[in-house]
Amino acid sequence: MAKNCEVCGREFDALYPKTSFENHEVCKVCKKQLEASEKSFDEVKKQILEEIRRCNDFVDYDAMLEKMRGFPATTGMAFEGYKITDYLGITGGETALGTGLYADFAAAIYDIKGTESPELTDKIRKAKDLALAKLIENCKKLGANAVIGVNFELATIDSIMIASANGTAVRIEKK
Ligand SMILES: [Zn+2]
Repeated sequence: MAKNCEVCGREFDALYPKTSFENHEVCKVCKKQLEASEKSFDEVKKQILEEIRRCNDFVDYDAMLEKMRGFPATTGMAFEGYKITDYLGITGGETALGTGLYADFAAAIYDIKGTESPELTDKIRKAKDLALAKLIENCKKLGANAVIGVNFELATIDSIMIASANGTAVRIEKK
């Protein structure tokens, strides 16, 4: 008995339960993609693997969060008790959620039934965190020690969800 999905290679578990598509053993998430597509099994597999590769941001989630720690970020234009000594320019950070995650995401929406889905809000928060972590990384490259005016955008392109964070990199000093 196969332990892994023939398409995405993930081990079957509660999140990616085992099911079948034609004569293949696949996870439920991949099955949804296979059913929705008119393309051949191999073409869909190639597409899913490509999207997983593009979305490997999630592998480094903890490392990304580590980079954000202790870096002041605000949606406002100032920090109380600090003055801004340098404006280093507007910069941004993006992250992408791929097929598997997006399929979960879509499933989470169907599960809402008028109530808030913790799974959905958790994924949006995670995507925003990663976009913010990348924004902070870019601010550090500019020599900034803080970021102001942070705003987020969410968009979908094909089956990929993109989260982006933009802000102004600054240097701050205690007043
Ligand atoms: Zn799969």
